[in-house]
Amino acid sequence: MRRVAVYPGSFDPITVGHVDIITRISRVFDEVIVLVAQSSQKSSLFPAEERKTLIEKTLSHIPNMRVDIFGGLTVDYMRKNNAHVIVRGLRAVVDFEYEMTMSSVNQKLAPDIETMLVFARPEFYYISSRGVKEVALNGGALQGLVPDNVIEPLKQKLASIPKN
Ligand code: ADP
Repeated sequence: MRRVAVYPGSFDPITVGHVDIITRISRVFDEVIVLVAQSSQKSSLFPAEERKTLIEKTLSHIPNMRVDIFGGLTVDYMRKNNAHVIVRGLRAVVDFEYEMTMSSVNQKLAPDIETMLVFARPEFYYISSRGVKEVALNGGALQGLVPDNVIEPLKQKLASIPKN
């Protein structure tokens, strides 16, 4: 059986923490699908298509990885794509409760689908898309927080937003 992992998230934008998780799981699974959430509830800085393109450009060297966009339940996507493992990254304890709840909901909806949690490496514990946007907004250095090819698009995107 082909082991297919789906790594869902907002990736708004992709950070070096995400890159680390994707790189590590690509060595464990036959195929990794990075699933960009197109959420109607959460407003995002980058449209889903742009988030997808940034991930693809960053990780084009990983042959068994592809990126997709989905707006529904992750478990529905999994069924359609014959995938059985949802991978999520775990940073500090604050992630734990949310991830446990999500995992329980998904377990209830689809008992045949497993959620697996991967611990962030210590050097990436503090990195989040939200934090990165805050740094960018205030003119801080982005090197080492997001992949190099994301720095300019992030700066440009923030500069294009009208300030009120
Ligand atoms: P969401 O909005 O669904 O939380 P994110 O894009 O913020 O999506 O994150 C996607 C997944 O990656 C989540 O499981 C999150 O915990 C994990 N993640 C985010 N940042 C890091 C990081 N620095 N190290 C490891 N995992 C991370």
